[in-house]
Amino acid sequence: MEQKLGDDDREEEWSSSSSSSSRRKVIVVGGSIAGLSCAKALVQPQCQCDVLVLERASALTAAGAGLGLDIHACRALQEWGLASALAAISMPLTVEQNRAIDPQSKSARLLARDEEFNNRSAYWSDVHRILFEALPQGTVEFGQEVVGFEEIDEGRRIRAKVKPSSGDGNEIKEVVGDLFIAADGINSSTRQRLVPSDKRQYCGYCAWRGVFDYSEQAAEEIAAAVRKAYADLGKCLYFDLAPGSHAVLYELPGKRLNWLWETR
Ligand SMILES: Cc1cc2nc3c(=O)[nH]c(=O)nc-3n(C[C@H](O)[C@H](O)[C@H](O)COP(=O)(O)OP(=O)(O)OC[C@H]3O[C@@H](n4cnc5c(N)ncnc54)[C@H](O)[C@@H]3O)c2cc1C
Repeated sequence: MEQKLGDDDREEEWSSSSSSSSRRKVIVVGGSIAGLSCAKALVQPQCQCDVLVLERASALTAAGAGLGLDIHACRALQEWGLASALAAISMPLTVEQNRAIDPQSKSARLLARDEEFNNRSAYWSDVHRILFEALPQGTVEFGQEVVGFEEIDEGRRIRAKVKPSSGDGNEIKEVVGDLFIAADGINSSTRQRLVPSDKRQYCGYCAWRGVFDYSEQAAEEIAAAVRKAYADLGKCLYFDLAPGSHAVLYELPGKRLNWLWETR
């Protein structure tokens, strides 16, 4: 099946054959982690679905920092045939440790330590990339912004209105599907339309996060100093909790440390 939105004939084919086929046509809005995960789940043969992901970004771009993958996320990726891709981009975290930090004395008190932790750490972009690469070619259409949608055929199908997100083209196209999945993130315009009363509320947190690359020799010395305070880096997910703030630290493949500091 062809799904190229830039080609009107093929777009029509994707749209008009919807009701005659036993396969379900699914439109996913947003091609980030959630959208691509939904798409990957739905292209499994038992789902009998053809999936089109509409993403307004113009290309796959590196974003995010580290990502902790819990047992459920790992299991999903494995069931989708991505066990070796997952192993290649991630590392096991077998310990989780929580400490209370006293900012005055700068001392740490152990709160909990789980030696049977079963997580993996990966770089956000790597998880995104392996999901993208595992989808049938043409599943994701970049540079396409969904600007509206409506139910048709007495609610049996849905028509999405799509426009190029950049460039000169302002022509609105229509794509019809049986199922419409909103994976358009925290500022979801789909959610705003479906649940207008659902307002986001700032609860006062501010987070800094980053990835420290210590593959260079100079940086290795800094990493060695960090390791003196966090001896189990490489296998441990650290949470340091202090009044009004907490920090997270864990290692990523490729000599990188993921750090996060949240405060309010
Ligand atoms: C409790 C919690 C823990 C988290 N922990 C981590 C962590 O450990 N590491 C980490 O990196 N992140 C973490 N995050 C952040 C989370 O992983 C990111 O926010 C993640 O990118 C969310 O993915 P998403 O697919 O839901 O949305 P997004 O990444 O926001 O993606 C939405 C996508 O939809 C597209 N889009 C939006 N509107 C339209 C439209 N109208 N038409 C077409 N496309 C559209 C956007 O371009 C974007 O690509 C955490 C978040 C929470 C809430």
